Amino acid sequence: MKIITKKSSPNFDERKSKIDIIVIHYTGMQSFEEALEHLCKPSSKVSSHYLINSSGDVYLLVDEEKRAWHAGVSYWSGNIDVNSSSIGIELVNPGHEFGYEIFSESQMTSLEVLIKSLINNYNIPLYNIVGHSDIAPLRKKDPGELFNWKRLAKKNLSIWPKKLSTSFSKNIKIGNKSNGILQVQEFLSEIGYKITKDGFFSEETKLVLMAFQRRFRCHKVDGLFDDETGSMIKSIYDLKKQVKKDFEIT
Ligand SMILES: [Zn+2]
Repeated sequence: MKIITKKSSPNFDERKSKIDIIVIHYTGMQSFEEALEHLCKPSSKVSSHYLINSSGDVYLLVDEEKRAWHAGVSYWSGNIDVNSSSIGIELVNPGHEFGYEIFSESQMTSLEVLIKSLINNYNIPLYNIVGHSDIAPLRKKDPGELFNWKRLAKKNLSIWPKKLSTSFSKNIKIGNKSNGILQVQEFLSEIGYKITKDGFFSEETKLVLMAFQRRFRCHKVDGLFDDETGSMIKSIYDLKKQVKKDFEIT
């Protein structure tokens, strides 16, 4: 993987905490040139550490030691300053607004090499490799349902749910309030999502479920609760607990 530093971005400041999260984005702009320009012009006030185009070229825009401005208002596992503790990676893709495309093989390969080296350099736990939609589910969809998280997981660069049979209540429906809904909210919160734990299936609960599905059940992103979604939530919850335990021991 060749890193190109052709253009750097002035949109950064100092980190306030150590690096332990990787956030994956898509650019959501019509071309690579437009995205590069946007991420580097002072007035846009946004940036990322890396930008990867569809040919797999990796551009370094902000030094890893600096706090790039890519996450915006966001939250992950109690952290409300995700920019301070993350590396932001933008993948060139027009996104949902301009003709969402499959991420190319070269782009994915470069991304995987980059993530692997970041994991090694900063000892980043796999449950902290997230999409922008995970940390801002109410306002973001990127990198979106065409991003292949399963492929990353197969290379041990992300977590992936196991097939589980679980018994959640059948009464987990939009507008209802129940202990079953509260349990789902508690699991999602433990996984890292920002969600109100009040047992009420609100619009917020729906949007968080959509963020979860966009990532782990990309063929059906409807924000409704079903057995498959429930089983995946429970599995990721268990996995995170296990990985966290192993991680703290080593
Ligand atoms: Zn984003």
